[in-house]
Amino acid sequence: METVKTIHKIGDEEVTILLSTCCLRLTYGEEVYVFDLEGRPVFMYFDRQLYERGLSGEIVAKKWLSVTPPRRHLERIRDRDVKDRILRHSFERARWMLEETGFDHPDPVINHIYRGDIQRLRKEEELFRRIYRPISILPPDQYLSLVFQPLEGCPYNKCSFCTFYRDREFRFKGLEEFRRHVEEVVDFLGRGISMRHRIFLADANTLFAETRLLRSYIETILDYIPRQEVEGFYSFSDYFTVYKTVGELRMLRELGYRRVYIGLETGDPQVLRILSKPGPPERSVKLVERLKEAGISVGVIILIGAGGREYYRQHVKNTVKILNSMPLDRRDIVYFSKLKVREGSEYQRIAEERGLTSLTEEEMDRQIEEIKNGIRHGEPPIQAIYDIDETIY
Ligand code: SF4
Repeated sequence: METVKTIHKIGDEEVTILLSTCCLRLTYGEEVYVFDLEGRPVFMYFDRQLYERGLSGEIVAKKWLSVTPPRRHLERIRDRDVKDRILRHSFERARWMLEETGFDHPDPVINHIYRGDIQRLRKEEELFRRIYRPISILPPDQYLSLVFQPLEGCPYNKCSFCTFYRDREFRFKGLEEFRRHVEEVVDFLGRGISMRHRIFLADANTLFAETRLLRSYIETILDYIPRQEVEGFYSFSDYFTVYKTVGELRMLRELGYRRVYIGLETGDPQVLRILSKPGPPERSVKLVERLKEAGISVGVIILIGAGGREYYRQHVKNTVKILNSMPLDRRDIVYFSKLKVREGSEYQRIAEERGLTSLTEEEMDRQIEEIKNGIRHGEPPIQAIYDIDETIY
């Protein structure tokens, strides 16, 4: 399909309609509406409020409160009526723009917009829950990926601060079961798949799978999605259960693996113990060295505020030390994730027992700056915030 772009004036404002191979995008003044080619709303910006909608049907509302320090209001919309109002508004505004400009195109997405079928979107939410276990967490640069779940849960599942996979037993899918999963996902996405070029292999630690099995998972996916349409494969990995040789990792790179995300959390062994995460942190350096040698980039996640005020200094000092021993460059990312202590979590219990004081937002910002200032690399890695409450798929 050729990309079609039309620009019209309605009053003093410009309307732009862009229909491309990936999506339909309509803008009018400050308003923006983006739909995938199955007519699912994906991004909506109106009344100075951004809404992101996932395939699960979840909607996250975001609003910038200040840029320095970075502060955003983030809300997961749970109320069914509010969700429906947002969807209805988006379809109505998109329809109005199509009518006012007389935009006419045979692509089926236009029909979806005119129908604005909210019941269909509701049914899809149920279907999504049958196809996937909840996608509890994704790296921020992967929200628009296509996710498959060859593994469910986390093989370790004991970190004190992490409650993402407590609802499920760790398991691998057998190859036949995985093939059915891929068929169901591809079928569910329909033409909406064209918006998602990256493939994320969930859940927590896909590199834990035997390399041969991982290869079979990837080949199964490639039976359904042409290789040239896949920008790359991505997944999380821990650094304490996974051992893959550079040769194995090179093979994964040839199959299309592009980046692996590693939860380092801290370079400090004592803080690591508070997090109930196995060490030593130096093992993460070895994994990063092997990945980089194989040509796979990394995303390293640091847990800001871990250990509270009592461990502030050593967390910064030893995290910087570990980050500087990793062969990072501009293809890699260092993510700063602010610790969110969940009610009833093991971390909360340990923190109370040890008398740890949580950092304020300002102290967390300062900790991020101190770690950033300590990073010394010729071509510095990208450095960004990772807000776990933002995850949407
Ligand atoms: S932080 Fe990672 S390794 Fe630890 S329990 Fe959670 S998913 Fe598993």
